[in-house]
Amino acid sequence: MTGEAGIAHADVHELLSKLLSFDTTSRESNLALIQFVRDYLQGLGVESELIFNEEGSKANLYARFGPAGDGGVMLSGHTDVVPVDGQNWTFPAFELTEHDQRYYGRGSTDMKGFIACVLAAVPMFLNKELRMPVYLAFSYDEEVGCLGVRSLIDHLKASPEKPALCIIGEPTSMKPVYGHKGKVALRCKVHGKACHSAYAPEGVNAIEYAAQLIGKLSSLAEPLSKQLDERFDPPYSTVQTGVIKGGAALNIVPEFCQFDMEMRYLPGVDAAATFNTLADYAKGTLEPKMQAVAPEASIQFESISAYPPLLTDQQSEFAQWLGQWAESQSYQTVAFGTEGGLFDEAGVATMVCGPGSMDQGHKPDEYVEIDQLKHCCRMLENLCSWLDTSDGL
Ligand SMILES: [Zn+2]
Repeated sequence: MTGEAGIAHADVHELLSKLLSFDTTSRESNLALIQFVRDYLQGLGVESELIFNEEGSKANLYARFGPAGDGGVMLSGHTDVVPVDGQNWTFPAFELTEHDQRYYGRGSTDMKGFIACVLAAVPMFLNKELRMPVYLAFSYDEEVGCLGVRSLIDHLKASPEKPALCIIGEPTSMKPVYGHKGKVALRCKVHGKACHSAYAPEGVNAIEYAAQLIGKLSSLAEPLSKQLDERFDPPYSTVQTGVIKGGAALNIVPEFCQFDMEMRYLPGVDAAATFNTLADYAKGTLEPKMQAVAPEASIQFESISAYPPLLTDQQSEFAQWLGQWAESQSYQTVAFGTEGGLFDEAGVATMVCGPGSMDQGHKPDEYVEIDQLKHCCRMLENLCSWLDTSDGL
């Protein structure tokens, strides 16, 4: 579908320009952007619901239009962006710069470009006698562990009407993505006992116990590497330690050490089992040794973030439809995570497909190719035709 009833690129440009002008780095409030989107939708006669965080400083936006009843398609994206701190930008980060058939700016590809296309598509959807509803779900705090969307999903679960399908517009170069790994990130805090290093046996060396835990974690990678799923890259689950802190001086037995670790796991792999093995080793083997010297010594684990894997059946009708809407049969998995597994757990079949590439996401001089935005608009136009003619699901 092209021409009269399509999406005007000038609208996408104008909306993206506006969206990029809000600094929605995850640590900042996203409310100015959310208010802008709400006002824009209200101007078109679409009411939105805002779901705030506890402090009232951030919000998810949830909107629905079209006929009453269950079913329909949700278009979803996160409004936050990663920081520009320490990055060397040649273009301004928080405004749109057009150069070389690209739009530059933080979030242009991840993922305000998609949101701009969706917003520009709303008048087109409203002009049609849709047979199924359309939902918009825009979240906060995705980049810090898919935190914000959880209250939106609770809201969705409690709503009388639910979408059947969800498209998350994370940058996939407009290829239909049916899966990604899940992730669990944990912090481990090892509390030992300090003393002068000349009397080391009287202390409990927190760094050395942390090192044993890290070694144990590494050893758990071995069995994980034998469970293969070639659809993913790498085709097995991985673990790693990424940050460690501890110690003050070489002549002091360190009383504290903490490290952050993560697991990226395939659908069907039990991430909890791996971490339970580590926790059993900490509690059953290491802590008794530590406490024999200092009863107050301990090892504690804290959750940093987690999201489930996504795996939608490639043979499903949804996957086939999305391939038609996006005009691509290049079904893929991606290495990065999304909110998709959370929507899927809530009973909404979810796939990922959006403009731009994650090769440009999170980097200085982030950009999205104008052609990619046009491709995304074609997907939305094709979806609109389908919603107009299909019999529902
Ligand atoms: Zn993203």
